[in-house]
Amino acid sequence: MNPFHNPVFLTRMLKSYMVDMGRLSRWDETTLQHYQDQQLRRILTFAQTVPLYQSLYQQAGLDVRSIQGIKAVSRLPMVSKEDIARYSPDGIVSQTADRKQLVQVATSGTTGKSLMVYVDLSEVVIGLLGYLRMLQHYGVHWRRDRISIIGDFAPHTAESGYINRGITPRFSTGFLFKNVQWLDTNANPEKVMEDLEQFQPDCIWGYVGMLGHLSLLKEQGKGPHVTPRVITATGSVLDPALKRVIEQAFHAQLYEVYGATETGPIAYQCTQGGYHVLSDLLYLEVVREGQPVAPGKAGRLVVTKLYGGGTPIIRYDAVNDIISLRLTPCPCGQVGQLIGRIYGRDDLSLILPGGRIMLPASFAEIYSKLLYEMRTRKVRNTKIIQHDLNSIEVLVELDQSIASPSDEKVCQFLQAQFSEKIGTGVTVTVRPVEEIEKGSPRIVSHVDHTAMVLSDYI
Ligand SMILES: [Zn+2]
Repeated sequence: MNPFHNPVFLTRMLKSYMVDMGRLSRWDETTLQHYQDQQLRRILTFAQTVPLYQSLYQQAGLDVRSIQGIKAVSRLPMVSKEDIARYSPDGIVSQTADRKQLVQVATSGTTGKSLMVYVDLSEVVIGLLGYLRMLQHYGVHWRRDRISIIGDFAPHTAESGYINRGITPRFSTGFLFKNVQWLDTNANPEKVMEDLEQFQPDCIWGYVGMLGHLSLLKEQGKGPHVTPRVITATGSVLDPALKRVIEQAFHAQLYEVYGATETGPIAYQCTQGGYHVLSDLLYLEVVREGQPVAPGKAGRLVVTKLYGGGTPIIRYDAVNDIISLRLTPCPCGQVGQLIGRIYGRDDLSLILPGGRIMLPASFAEIYSKLLYEMRTRKVRNTKIIQHDLNSIEVLVELDQSIASPSDEKVCQFLQAQFSEKIGTGVTVTVRPVEEIEKGSPRIVSHVDHTAMVLSDYI
């Protein structure tokens, strides 16, 4: 039976929608922890029916009944991308699950490798409610305000999994999403701006790159009636200077939201600047070489998802983001974990001489400058090839319909920016190419990293 036709399920879902929304503002830390403990025990019991976790915990000689609360979560083994791949597809879902009721979602292939996990309908709904909760915090109401979502609707992404294969076949979406416009982030920015002009949204939800393009178009006078109050940016690291450019172009407030395919929504910036984790839904850890690091220190994100009936995500080590947590509470008073900073994808990083790691936050800074310093949208795509420790080649695909600035100027600009960021001892060359293959890895390194010792993030 389709659970969305089940009145008990529907009632429970609606109730959770109404109760969930404000609870992190109402709860104190003790209530939250009690709830997290209970959800963790529930999800661990469920994981006992999933072959991947059965064998993982068996190998570790661990009786999961000994894990009574969230503070003990670090005693569980971490789950890697390889673990998921090895047991996929049958071993990553419950033996009691009806596979027809589950939706497949795949992580984006920015590095060429994609990973598939399953979500059930409760996860789709709770995930979407998590995003709605963020919007509500910004004073955007999904039934009253007009929202344009510029998502990635390529066939296997989370967006198309949640919407096209999760919600649409089961709900009358006309009723549910009558105030929502769905646009594709892979489309031409000019076309996206035309669609926005037609719809005149109160809120735009989009990826950083697309929002950057749109803000330059807006500065050039395109989309005169595109005047959102709120813009939310997602998907990659947003440089503070680019944030200001986007806010000024649209005269709107911009907030960052953070999520991943396997985990659903993770965190959002509150109006007072705190980066709040949806701590009733997830628990985050930050580790280096498998060991937890102190708040304020950067490390790999490890996630435990406290809900769902698809592939359990318990101490999941494959989101591949480098983040730090923050210890000081936010003045807004919400309980739960706070993110200090998101540095970006670990697998999109570059290892430099001396074990320094250049993270996507640094690349974002450089590419953002093209938009806000050079004021050009000419660079369509880039690819970095590290030939050896001391030489890096940056390939750029340029939009030839944009005459000025010249190819040479753009390449010189990038060369100077990269050299400044990386420092001496590394030669950087920037070369224009006809086309960079979509979906191919954006960073290719021929350096053997196995023997290198990590010293610092830049
Ligand atoms: Zn806050």
